[in-house]
Amino acid sequence: MSSPRYKRILLKLSGEVLMGNQQFGIDPDFVAELAREVRDARDTGLEICLVIGGGNIFRGMAGAARGMDRAQADYMGMLATVMNALAMQNALEQLGVHTRVQSAVQMDTVCEPVIRRRAERHLEKGRVVIFAAGVGSPYFTTDSGAALRAAEMKCDVLLKGTSVDGVYDADPKANSQAKRYETVDYDTVLAENLKVMDASAVALCRDNNIPIVVFSIREKGNLARVLAGGGVKTIVQKGA
Ligand code: UDP
Repeated sequence: MSSPRYKRILLKLSGEVLMGNQQFGIDPDFVAELAREVRDARDTGLEICLVIGGGNIFRGMAGAARGMDRAQADYMGMLATVMNALAMQNALEQLGVHTRVQSAVQMDTVCEPVIRRRAERHLEKGRVVIFAAGVGSPYFTTDSGAALRAAEMKCDVLLKGTSVDGVYDADPKANSQAKRYETVDYDTVLAENLKVMDASAVALCRDNNIPIVVFSIREKGNLARVLAGGGVKTIVQKGA
């Protein structure tokens, strides 16, 4: 891997990428594969913050759509992100990568609470810090959690590793003419309601001038390519 262009990154992984080819839950083989990519990135000297979603287990909106109280369902979603964080921690530590999980919902016997200065120290020591439970409040998503931690930890970039290879001007599954952007401005994303991250996450990145790189993490080796400036991706940034 060529030398990284960034010093500190925040990598957001959608929960669904942890299920590999399953329909639900966590595929340990696929998590191990993701962990290898994270380790390789860490080995180039990058400081890495990780945020993992929970959509492979539970999404608050889905619960609410079936009659649950939204806040209650969101608490369940946040707990799902903690499970994913622990699965990723396990996979990384099996590769010899030191990690810490910090959860926005306190869970003292399982992981640390979110403490920025402590997270700083972990990063300085080469540990990967996995931030769980999003922002710790219902009515948010882990995209917002990722944007918040990226700002708080002064990350150079927010990399969103997901199942699609970038941002399109229409839904590529529904419209074969849909075009992928190479770069796109934050305000275009917001005005046209493009499917990247939720609006609060995009606005937070815009206000703190943090570029968002959207790419497919399902493709092997893609994280390294994107970090080296290549790969198929969309960059959301100012004035694009
Ligand atoms: N969640 C929440 N507050 C947060 C982050 C997450 O309530 O700050 C809940 C919410 O119910 C969400 C679920 O956790 O649906 C899983 O997170 P998300 O949908 O962001 O996961 P992803 O789509 O990235 O897998």
